[in-house]
Amino acid sequence: MGLSGLDIYKLLPKTNCRECGFATCLAFAMQLAKKAVGIDKCPYLTAEVKEKLEAQALPPIKLISVGSGDKRLEIGNETVMFRHEEKFYRPTGIGFILEDALTDSEIKTRLAKINQLKFERVGQSLEVNLVAIRQNKTSARFIEVVKLVSASTPLGIVLMSNDPQALKGGLEILKGKNPLLYHATQENLKAVAQLAKEYKAPLVVYSQDLEGVCALTTALASQGVSDLVIETGKKPVSEKIWDLTQSRRLALKKSDRSLGYPSLTLVEQDDPYEEAQEAASYIAKYAGIVLMKGIEAWQVLALLTLRQNIYTDPQKPLQIEPKLYPIGQVNDKSPVLVTTNFSLSYYTVLGEVEASKVPAYIVSVDTEGMSVLTAWAAEKFTPQKISESINKFGVKEAVSHKQLVIPGYVAVMSGELQDESGLEIIVGPKEAAGIPSFLKNLH
Ligand code: SF4
Repeated sequence: MGLSGLDIYKLLPKTNCRECGFATCLAFAMQLAKKAVGIDKCPYLTAEVKEKLEAQALPPIKLISVGSGDKRLEIGNETVMFRHEEKFYRPTGIGFILEDALTDSEIKTRLAKINQLKFERVGQSLEVNLVAIRQNKTSARFIEVVKLVSASTPLGIVLMSNDPQALKGGLEILKGKNPLLYHATQENLKAVAQLAKEYKAPLVVYSQDLEGVCALTTALASQGVSDLVIETGKKPVSEKIWDLTQSRRLALKKSDRSLGYPSLTLVEQDDPYEEAQEAASYIAKYAGIVLMKGIEAWQVLALLTLRQNIYTDPQKPLQIEPKLYPIGQVNDKSPVLVTTNFSLSYYTVLGEVEASKVPAYIVSVDTEGMSVLTAWAAEKFTPQKISESINKFGVKEAVSHKQLVIPGYVAVMSGELQDESGLEIIVGPKEAAGIPSFLKNLH
């Protein structure tokens, strides 16, 4: 957490000389705390105070990027422990481990499957981020596999090897692609740090405990290697979550620079359900990157959905544009269904209308992103608002009939809405899953 205005004030000369453009040192301190002004405006700061203030201006968790182009993954730069305090900004990168012991054709098959792991949910595209190549064989084989993977996927690449020669070979092939190096330990620190510096590559720092990680990040930072990701190795899930939580807490609340980096976790379970569960725990609790073995679509979709939910601003629900949406080959006889502009509500209704194969219109009413019942309780989904939307979006011009289907949960408003809109109100199913049979049996 950065210094407060009062903390900063205590460091200032307190002469109120006004040279910074502010009436008092306190006013200047308040602006510094908000990062609305630079420290250079006060010419009377000592070198020591300057250093302290410059340090507090840095983000508590460093922003790290892996990969290049439109598949570049950015992690870190988070500012809060809990998403209700503000929001989480940079979604966990999800990647898959490929062993170099696999045959070329097995690698190609797995890569083709990984490249297909893209989903559309509530209007957003959900994608995976990384492929990690792990060395089991010779460095020549590792480098061969790096070539193969690099040519077969646009995703960011993680190079996993203890052999600096193998890592160097991989880095040569991936020049300009910004791969992540995995990993620096106490034993190989010098050689791997040299590679990270030479190729300007981000680097994973590995130790079994956070004290060991601090020692390594401090040593690397003093050598000018500071694009780091931290890892504390395989351990029971509860201990791992403890490490992830503690490192985030110490970075944010205690300004511990040696832990101010995003974290990486490996998940390697034989049981695919347990693997998905473990990965989900780390996505929920602060992992910057999760690397796993499983590439099944059902595993990955569950994790991407969880990630999407956690990294959505809880104070700003996902919304769609309020308007009249034609679904399928509509005509003036097509039914008209009304719902809210909460993305999840709209896309759920959309999915069921499409499944019914009955062309229909959906009117999305502006409820500030609230779902049907919440909006109704908050008086954002009222007969008056629905009626206004019907008129504004030209529903009466689009269809020749005078019927409107409302969600079953708000059947109570039928009479008032009928009076307000002049339309015949038909109460639809309570759950969207009932829409296909409802539409097929309408009329
Ligand atoms: S220039 Fe420095 S000493 Fe003068 S008022 Fe501003 S903060 Fe205070």
